[in-house]
Amino acid sequence: MPFTTYGLSAPILEGIRAMGYTTPTPIQARAIPLIMAGRDVIGSAQTGTGKTAAFSLPILSQMGAHQPNPRFMVLEPTRELAAQVETAIHDFARFTDLKTAVLYGGVGYGKQMDSLQAGADIIIATPGRLLDHLERGTCKLNHIKYLVLDEADRMLDMGFLPDVRRIVEKCPKERLTSLFSATIPPQIETLIQWTMTNPETIEIGARRSVAETVSHALYPVAEAQKTDLLLALLEKTNYDSVIVFCRTKHGADQIGSLLKRNNHAAAILHSNRTQGEREEALLGFRQGKYEVLVATDIASRGLDIADVSHVINFDVPQHPEDYIHRIGRTGRAEASGDALTLMVAGDAAEVFAIERFIARKIPRNKLDNFTYTYTALFEEEKAGAKGTFPGKVRGARIRGGYFFAPGRRR
Ligand code: AMP
Repeated sequence: MPFTTYGLSAPILEGIRAMGYTTPTPIQARAIPLIMAGRDVIGSAQTGTGKTAAFSLPILSQMGAHQPNPRFMVLEPTRELAAQVETAIHDFARFTDLKTAVLYGGVGYGKQMDSLQAGADIIIATPGRLLDHLERGTCKLNHIKYLVLDEADRMLDMGFLPDVRRIVEKCPKERLTSLFSATIPPQIETLIQWTMTNPETIEIGARRSVAETVSHALYPVAEAQKTDLLLALLEKTNYDSVIVFCRTKHGADQIGSLLKRNNHAAAILHSNRTQGEREEALLGFRQGKYEVLVATDIASRGLDIADVSHVINFDVPQHPEDYIHRIGRTGRAEASGDALTLMVAGDAAEVFAIERFIARKIPRNKLDNFTYTYTALFEEEKAGAKGTFPGKVRGARIRGGYFFAPGRRR
């Protein structure tokens, strides 16, 4: 169904046209009518599905003309997400006179105070900085009518739920609330019961699904050859833009320096970098100044970095969910993408968990013309594990960090 069938306001439809959207994505098709009808919505959808528009378009359509008090508020776990969502909302609302303010920490208060004093209709904020503004009296929430808790499970992981509660307590009870979360652990369930009224849950595809357009490959390698293999992969892969994920900030710094020394236009993104450095890295990557972004998991959730042709996991993610978040950077908006994961012997248990989580076996690849040194992982392949999805082998178990199908001897 086209966007025109939902009763969205004329300026918002004009904004959608200007964005070049022609057809609603599945989550938009489900969420827009519900929010237009005044329902609270819980949304669970894989990254890159268009959830920002799914909640923003119906809310913006109902807001009418500018008023000097914030009426629509979105809480986000990170500064980058807050900035990204503000840009999207600003774009959707470009043919209205609605004003936005984005509030996050790590930067001065001046610009944020100016946008609040100018009378923002819409606030996009991270919890800590918003609380600062509330305590200073520079922002009031007593007119909030539309509340969106985005990436709720991420806010939980980051320890923000007490702040979120304090913020929600300051909003009027009479309001519309939407919550987006990839998973609904018990704490989020409690938050839902406490903040929402008779919510409708929308689940688009399986919670664990990965974009169909992404091809996956594992590259088993000896620990000592990891960086050589990364360089060789970058050399041989025909990439336009690639994010290299590392497990630690220190690791990201080291890989970033290595790539720069090898003449790759690389930027580094992790939480120990200053806000200015983070913004410069993201902007430079988006604009093509950097072809490689070396990042920790901070960049893996929700960030809309368009046109990433490849994701390389230099380190296997420790949690299977993070694999999905990381590779969600590629294959977005149904563009095709490749996800390559370097794997050392000690990673076998994590790889096994990922394969179970995404319910598919990831093929093991060897890079042509790369001189491999021995790794026990190659024994696993020779022994015939290749092509067998461990999650489906009855009695399969992990022994000493390796996957063994039943009956196979070590
Ligand atoms: P999101 O999941 O909100 O981060 O959106 C992911 C990307 O999809 C963003 O670049 C959006 O601009 C884009 N997008 C969202 N909705 C649509 C749509 N209906 N048609 C085309 N692109 C869209």
